[in-house]
Amino acid sequence: MKKTRPDKVVARKQKAVSAGAVSPGRSSIPERDRKLNFGDKWAYAPAPESHDYIPVAPRHELFINGTFVPPARGDYFPSVNPATEGKLTEIARGGTGDVDRAVKAARAAFKNVWGTMPGCERGKYLYRIARIIQERSRELAILETMDGGKPIKETRDIDLPLVAAHFFYHAGWADKLEYALPGRDPKPIGVVGQIIPWNFPLLMAAWKSAPALACGNTVVIKPSKTTSLTLLRLAEIFQEAGLPNGVVNVVTGTGDTGTAIVQHPDVDKIAFTGSTEIGRELARLTAGTRKRLTLELGGKAANIVFEDAAIDQAIEGVVAGIYFNQGHVCCAGSRLLVQESIYPRVVKRLRDRIQTLRVGNPLDKNTDIGAINNPAQLEKIREMVACGVAEGGGLVQTNCVLPKKGYWFPPTFLTGVTPAHRVAQEEIFGPVLAVMTFRTPEEAIERANNTPYGLSAGVWTEKGSKIFKMVSQLRAGVVWANTFNKFDPTSPFGGYKESGFGREGGLQGLQAYLR
Ligand code: NAD
Ligand code: MN
Repeated sequence: MKKTRPDKVVARKQKAVSAGAVSPGRSSIPERDRKLNFGDKWAYAPAPESHDYIPVAPRHELFINGTFVPPARGDYFPSVNPATEGKLTEIARGGTGDVDRAVKAARAAFKNVWGTMPGCERGKYLYRIARIIQERSRELAILETMDGGKPIKETRDIDLPLVAAHFFYHAGWADKLEYALPGRDPKPIGVVGQIIPWNFPLLMAAWKSAPALACGNTVVIKPSKTTSLTLLRLAEIFQEAGLPNGVVNVVTGTGDTGTAIVQHPDVDKIAFTGSTEIGRELARLTAGTRKRLTLELGGKAANIVFEDAAIDQAIEGVVAGIYFNQGHVCCAGSRLLVQESIYPRVVKRLRDRIQTLRVGNPLDKNTDIGAINNPAQLEKIREMVACGVAEGGGLVQTNCVLPKKGYWFPPTFLTGVTPAHRVAQEEIFGPVLAVMTFRTPEEAIERANNTPYGLSAGVWTEKGSKIFKMVSQLRAGVVWANTFNKFDPTSPFGGYKESGFGREGGLQGLQAYLR
């Protein structure tokens, strides 16, 4: 086993900073930043987003047929803020009976209103929803951060603008579907069941519901147990927009609630985003039924950095690719493949760069890395990192001081990883990067493709021809070139192999919701 010396790195860094640091405003530097040794260059005063003006009811009900109703069994579970472990509210646990009520409401709305409404009328509702999302975006961003743990910087500047963009984009398609599939007279499928994870709660709800609605389907949607709040606010927005009753129904709950949706005989299609394990289970459950299924599952994306790349730009992309949203991203660039000649340089810069990432209160506007969404996920990350070290990886972590309460993991990378290591093969879903080397483009392609997944990849080179060569041979649904984790509602997203099937977004995404 290689010796892991994160302490060594840290010690050098501390010396360098304290030697040159002049500290006039020491008292204004938060203790955390001082301990991080950012010095005056990096220290910011705390800038927490205030949230007390946003009411959060102590209890949240199900949203069925246009109104909020208690669950039949009267069962609720707590939803906590992962940055404080404080209870935010109680969420209704939907059971089989509740799912049945929701599906009946969706079926009636499909038959009587939504499925027969002209596309241009449906489009008006979607535009209205998009505009209200924009108006309430600050509130939604704050709640997303409090419920899920991701930094306000991201929810405010990335999630919410994309949520609104998805509704705007699909509003535009609603009356143009015959141009999307020319000569095929496209029709809605009917009632769709949608099951989403906790990493992008509201964005996944938008990705799933906006195209379904634009195409004339009605929806029964279930958020993840740990992040139900913002989807329930979106339900309020549906009310505010006057969306007819039953067109979207939100059934909160656990895995059992999801199973009840999947097994309901009157659901025509299932769209799922989450773990590969549950995806497999849903494929089994729907096999031999008339239900359609699309799955968006895990990933183990490679960021491939060639020796001719703009290194600083590449480092920024690699950092954004893995530490964005604490690495809770299915298309995260969780493997770094560096051309051998620049390996020492890249590792040194990466080590210096992650030291400047701020970990802490997700509501602080300067925070780069928020809380891990839930304790089970934190446990999984710890276990995988321990495994990576046991397999011989060199551990590099920042020396940041983690808050005492809440679920946290520092930005981490493992050097000297080989393709056979578990950390090179399995999804970690945390702020942990596995660093490997390659010599030739052929070897890079072989290594990048050597996982059971195929969701995304990144290529960093100044040479356009190399980009084209790589893109044509990488088995991944999305390949970014000299950038990473860029999303747009007009471009389709989805995977190869165990990353799932079907596409979301763009013209291709509409097909999943049309007959
Ligand atoms: P999960 O697959 O367990 O849950 C995703 C959604 O499916 C949730 O809403 C959950 O309640 C529901 N669900 C769970 N069991 C179900 C069942 N038997 N039938 C129907 N629905 C069911 O994922 P998770 O618990 O949120 O996270 C576990 C792992 O999944 C993570 O460690 C991560 O590796 C991966 N993950 C992937 C993505 C992604 O976007 N690809 C997102 C989140 C998590
Ligand atoms: Mn929560």
